Amino acid sequence: MLNVLVVGGAGFIGSHMVKMLGQTGCRVTTLDDLSSGHRDAVLYGDFVQGDMGDRAVLDAVLSRGFDAVMHFASFIQVGESVQKPALYYQNNVVKTLGLLDAMRAHGIQRFVFSSTAATFGEPQYSPIDEKHPQQPVNPYGRTKLMVEQVLADYALAYGFRSVSLRYFNAAGADPEGQLGERHDPETHLIPLVLQVAAGRRPHLQVFGRDYDTPDGTCIRDYVHVTDLCSAHALALQSLMAGQGADCQAYNLGSGHGFSVQEVIDTAQKVSGRSVAVMDSPRRPGDPSRLVADPTMARQNLGWQPQHSDLRTLIEHAWRWETRQA
Ligand code: UDP
Repeated sequence: MLNVLVVGGAGFIGSHMVKMLGQTGCRVTTLDDLSSGHRDAVLYGDFVQGDMGDRAVLDAVLSRGFDAVMHFASFIQVGESVQKPALYYQNNVVKTLGLLDAMRAHGIQRFVFSSTAATFGEPQYSPIDEKHPQQPVNPYGRTKLMVEQVLADYALAYGFRSVSLRYFNAAGADPEGQLGERHDPETHLIPLVLQVAAGRRPHLQVFGRDYDTPDGTCIRDYVHVTDLCSAHALALQSLMAGQGADCQAYNLGSGHGFSVQEVIDTAQKVSGRSVAVMDSPRRPGDPSRLVADPTMARQNLGWQPQHSDLRTLIEHAWRWETRQA
């Protein structure tokens, strides 16, 4: 039975991963400091509350022995990373280095890392494949790229095996309705649109209608959280089987872009409610279009997104939203 440590397993994507691992017969342990995660989102396995930056905590957990570690415990807000870069470099880089060192000390050499489309920066072409230059334009993207680079060096020097998965716009919710997005503050488009539809917010701010896109609003590639988890499961399999290079990275998206206005229109259809909008200035740092080319993940990992069409994704997110009191 595979034994996996999920760091950040109480967060949005991590909690879906813990569920998938638990349901597919893996032994799973979550390490999470609950700074933003939720204990009740961890539905399977053991739970350890602790800081991944604390070596004593890591030693205690890792001494249980694991086949692999999946790392979801990052700070993810671009705007906050610009305001508080020290916090982001400390949490996302320094603590991750500590985790990697502790893994090596315990002889654990397989790692699945949550990276991001933000490592690419302003797109030079679309859709974005793995060959696209990585020139992040904010501290958040830089922290993730730094870890990717560390992983490449560790592969060469130590034979440390890793897969970095660069998410485009993670969204949706558990198809069975048990889990969903609970960020505080919420900054992501789909939960915000649905909170307006549910009457929990007065309106949605649309950040810019003057982009060079068909309807003037930004285009993003929304990928279902459960599909992201399937990619992690496939990455784990490939690491276990010794397939591929020691250091791999894949772009994870549906390959289809949707505008902010198309998201609003679909949310209105799914919910049967109208969504009040307030046109607002562009949000600094938002590229007009971010769409993944997921060909490599399909070819090398056998990844096939199942739930990432916009309507299904919003239906799942809406079901979750309407269950929140
Ligand atoms: N967006 C918006 N209003 C909001 C939140 C987001 O218009 O209240 C837009 C944002 O400008 C971007 C898209 O929705 O074009 C997706 O933003 P999100 O923050 O969900 O993800 P990001 O693309 O920044 O990772």
